[in-house]
Amino acid sequence: MNQQKAACNPILLPLVLLLSAPWAFAQNPKSENFLPARELYAPAHFGNAYEVMSADEMSAYLAEVKWMGFNSYSDWFTATDVNDPYSPQHADEKSRSRFEKKKAIYLAAQEAGLALNVIICPNHVYVNQLADKEIAATKGRLIQGQLICPSTPRGREIILANHRNWFADTAKAGITFNTVTAFAYDYGGCACDQCSPWILTSAQLTKEIHEIAKEYHPQIEPWYCSWWWSGEDHQLFNEWAASEAPGWLKGMTMHIEYNQTRPKNVAVPEGCRKLAFVHIGYGERGGYATYGKMGPVFGPKRIPATIAELKNLGFDGFQAYSEGRFDDVNKMVLAGLASGTQPNADTALEAYARRYLRATETDATRWTELLKQCVDPVSPTESRKELDSLAKKVPGNWRIEQWRSRLFLVEHERAKNAERFLDAQDKLYRDVYGLGKVDHVLNPAVGRPGWIRRTNGKPDSQKEMLPEQ
Ligand SMILES: [Zn+2]
Repeated sequence: MNQQKAACNPILLPLVLLLSAPWAFAQNPKSENFLPARELYAPAHFGNAYEVMSADEMSAYLAEVKWMGFNSYSDWFTATDVNDPYSPQHADEKSRSRFEKKKAIYLAAQEAGLALNVIICPNHVYVNQLADKEIAATKGRLIQGQLICPSTPRGREIILANHRNWFADTAKAGITFNTVTAFAYDYGGCACDQCSPWILTSAQLTKEIHEIAKEYHPQIEPWYCSWWWSGEDHQLFNEWAASEAPGWLKGMTMHIEYNQTRPKNVAVPEGCRKLAFVHIGYGERGGYATYGKMGPVFGPKRIPATIAELKNLGFDGFQAYSEGRFDDVNKMVLAGLASGTQPNADTALEAYARRYLRATETDATRWTELLKQCVDPVSPTESRKELDSLAKKVPGNWRIEQWRSRLFLVEHERAKNAERFLDAQDKLYRDVYGLGKVDHVLNPAVGRPGWIRRTNGKPDSQKEMLPEQ
């Protein structure tokens, strides 16, 4: 199921030890693709792989992520669907266990030598904190989730207390955050008159939260992610930063929209690093296959093009937004290129195939061609024959099985065979990824194409594809 098991295999051990040697991790700052800041943002939520895997499995997976070339890790302080774990009245087992596990994974990442960032959506609060309608936020198109209004005294008090609890508890556990990254929209925002313009209310609130964070993590730097920001938001924020908080913001993770390979060309406050929010949960183009609903995703052109754009635009690096292990190949290519350990996508794929698929000198090229072919297979049947032939010597490997599942799903999709498609999807989720109940935008019923809705006897959903956090 995981790489740790593969690494314990005595046949593989010499190979693993060889590849784990320090030189195998060495970055190459002279590479034309080199970017110093390479973060994996892997929120453990909604029933995704990061939430489902044990802390030990995550620890083993983070070691692989580091080998691929990432040097920083982040999770999100997720209040979604749970009560306040720090409230004696409202804490429940689900909320407590969620945050205990997040702490365990952060500690594992810290021990692995990864820098630590924490994502916050400041006015997104616990379920039990929504009862008081007097402090409810006003929602809007880009403003959703469990929100309260920070312009009400009681609302602001709750928001600040939530962050104090979280920063104090993580510091007590021995975790040292390097950065905190705030989001203004999606799970966040309030469209009431007192909060308008929202971007400035968000900025001031985040600045107060950063002061609290510094009490427990003295060196913590404030970053923002511009996910869903408008041009006007950027302008207002920059004016605020220049007059009210010069030099305060240290990093801006610029949102790259779907199917684009570069962020909008907008200025950031003086002294602020430019980073990019790179969505690795889809392949060449967004759509229903986003988030692994049709198995693994890979953008053989999009990912290298994104690195090249960021390099040309003078960015320092990226936060790679990931919702599970289905984007494993995207991770390898993105981090391999940006760390300078891999000169191009083909060498990154070869390194991947050698480490995880037991590729040899003679079949490494066949593996890389197959992985590229599986993105949009001319013939899923022929690709599966090639996969079966190459995979004979790789028993019980989820990385292989996810590609096999993808080929079945593409075949059933083209034949419009809903029953077989849904059976294959269940097998992928349960047997390959080991997922249980998957919520929100990760639920495979969300955004299902119409040809599946028209069938009988299977679970259905009329929900539209939601924007994601
Ligand atoms: Zn408000």
